[in-house]
Amino acid sequence: MAGFSTQLQAVHARISAAARQFGRNSGDIRVIAVSKTFPATAIREAYAAGQRDFGENYVQEAVAKMDALADLPLTWHFIGPIQSNKTRDIALRFDWVHSVERLKIAERLSQQRPEGFAPLAICLQVNVSGESTKSGVDPSAVLTLAKAVSSLPRIRLRGLMAVPEPTLDVAVQRERFRVVRELAQQLRTAGITIDTLSMGMSDDLESAIAEGATMVRIGRALFGERKKAVNAN
Ligand SMILES: *Cc1c(COP(=O)(O)O)cnc(C)c1O
Repeated sequence: MAGFSTQLQAVHARISAAARQFGRNSGDIRVIAVSKTFPATAIREAYAAGQRDFGENYVQEAVAKMDALADLPLTWHFIGPIQSNKTRDIALRFDWVHSVERLKIAERLSQQRPEGFAPLAICLQVNVSGESTKSGVDPSAVLTLAKAVSSLPRIRLRGLMAVPEPTLDVAVQRERFRVVRELAQQLRTAGITIDTLSMGMSDDLESAIAEGATMVRIGRALFGERKKAVNAN
């Protein structure tokens, strides 16, 4: 595995090529470096290479790294499944939460986001792969949830997120991401202002960019293969 800086350049080159191919502005696509399972030292190296946004899936693991990296001005994105008993730490420590799928969780984040902090940026995770994945709100329920979440104080609905079931079939990748793009359009038509589509990972970022991704969440293509499954939250 080459160093982070080389990998980051390669990812930016893929983003630029996809943006060109699909008529997007590469400046509209932000890279979230998914640092789960990698140590604080790896994040420090990424910071030195110019990376500022980091995604984490496990609260305890993330908070330990945040404490070790408190001297750096980083933006932290929570992208993993959310347990109710972890919302306080998420509301306190993160800047973004991409994986909100229930109103109850949004209400807790709203109540627990400290006064005086910037609003916590929220994306609703949409289930675009149907039965094969359990995570995310059903597309038919997104508008209702978005309306409810929009009205909560101290959090701000920014957009939609999806983690489709992995497939190398580009047509299927596009189809899944297109669902997210169309849902975003539906929300805008209903008067809900959103500016973020969080979709695309190491193996499908081009398809996500084709369908309008504004944030791609990249792990392996930046940090290398993850060694092992980590402990749950
Ligand atoms: C792990 C993870 C990623 C990064 O996946 P890679 O395939 O390593 O790029 C992105 N999003 C979510 C929600 C993840 O859990």
